[in-house]
Amino acid sequence: MKNLWEKALELLQKETTSVSFETWIHPLTPVHLDGSTAVLMAPNDFSRNQVINYKDLIQNSLNSLSALQLEVKFILPTDLEQYKREHGIDYTLEGHVNRDASLAVSHALKPKEAAPAAKSADYSSSMLNPSYTFDNFVVGSANMFAHSACVSVAENHGSFNPLFLYGGSGLGKTHLLHAIGNHVKAHSPEKKVIYVYCENFVNEFIATIKKNTYEQFRAKYCSCDMLLVDDIQFLEGKEQMQVNFFSTFNELYEHGKNVVLTCDKPPQSLKTLEDRMRTRFASGLIIDIGVPDYETRMAILQQQVEQKNVKIPTEVLAYLATNFVNSIRELEGALNTVIAYCFLVGPVTLDNAKEAVSKLISEEKRKKLSPETMLDIIAHYYNVTTEEICSKTRIKNLVVARQIAMYILAKYGDLTYERIGSIIGGKHHSTVLYGYNKISEELKANNPVVTQDVQALLHRIMG
Ligand code: ADP
Ligand code: MG
Repeated sequence: MKNLWEKALELLQKETTSVSFETWIHPLTPVHLDGSTAVLMAPNDFSRNQVINYKDLIQNSLNSLSALQLEVKFILPTDLEQYKREHGIDYTLEGHVNRDASLAVSHALKPKEAAPAAKSADYSSSMLNPSYTFDNFVVGSANMFAHSACVSVAENHGSFNPLFLYGGSGLGKTHLLHAIGNHVKAHSPEKKVIYVYCENFVNEFIATIKKNTYEQFRAKYCSCDMLLVDDIQFLEGKEQMQVNFFSTFNELYEHGKNVVLTCDKPPQSLKTLEDRMRTRFASGLIIDIGVPDYETRMAILQQQVEQKNVKIPTEVLAYLATNFVNSIRELEGALNTVIAYCFLVGPVTLDNAKEAVSKLISEEKRKKLSPETMLDIIAHYYNVTTEEICSKTRIKNLVVARQIAMYILAKYGDLTYERIGSIIGGKHHSTVLYGYNKISEELKANNPVVTQDVQALLHRIMG
């Protein structure tokens, strides 16, 4: 099966685009072959659902190479042991362990995808940035689903409409949005794709009202095949904008056009979002993009170093990957600082690199805010006032906001429970402890809303 699969991969690579090949087909592990069945293992459920689109193609390749009539079956890593038992397989499979890390590295090492017809007028009106592609996006465990979903939308398989991508700042949301658009333009230049930063969309709309050119605005957005809207948290608290946004969105949606949205939090945490919009989002696919692990951070640095064609010792990269963990934007910034510093001062050594980024690291640590400011940020996030958080009201969303405030102040504010109690409207310290424990438990149980809220808030508080 392994030999046959290697030959089939060569064929399949020619038959599919490089992105779908790398995303869905290459990650399959050959498991077993008998006279009538070829068994392949997909890395996860999501990939399996996608790769089913290629089943006939894979089957045909295997059949033409083997002169057999094989039926392809896809299994998951969780089915593997049982499958091996049932079929008396006693060999171990190579290559499916640590698939994420090797995927990350292979992506990092690949040459850049040729930029799409970058100069055409249509391309420039799409507002896409040609340097953000799938090929220079490093895939790791934290962004694997987000990446797969975006590839899927770009390749028009599956019906994820709308696709809603959320996560903290600097984690690659904008990069992925452009990558979708660039992929579509490169493969179907006739398609009209528009990337728009939500704030610009809103400003454009306001200008439209002033100049009485609404029809033009509507025609522009409603005539496109794919609309990519970045940072829709900007709509929070702007009801009139939401109404307009929703009508444009709906018109596209009802005509089967793809819409992809990014946001810094999940739809259920967008507090003033209209319910019908929330429901619409939930009918598509909602995916979060997390903080990358160490391997991914290293692979991103290696990719950058290669692109910039500079030599940086691995220990320096490891130092950066260890100290800049929350945002790829900051990680890239630190790398650029090291390169600039060493260009001016001397060789790229670990000592010079430490010196170069010492200020960035101390800023990272210094960003600690006063408890009152933290409370302010938390209140703003939940669209409530600090007075409401400090009150005794037992309305559900206030109780949650209050308990999260207790948790964050206790965990990151270096304050006693007594002190927190007095900041939050004179509560007893046992109430604070209860709130703290409640949120800790929700986090342990991986409650998605609480986890995302805490992460988004920490990002705002710690920078
Ligand atoms: P966000 O929109 O989530 O705030 P961006 O997409 O602007 O983040 O990403 C910040 C920077 O990090 C960009 O330069 C982007 O190219 C880079 N980046 C983010 N994720 C990755 C990744 N997985 N691989 C390579 N570069 C990445
Ligand atoms: Mg962004």
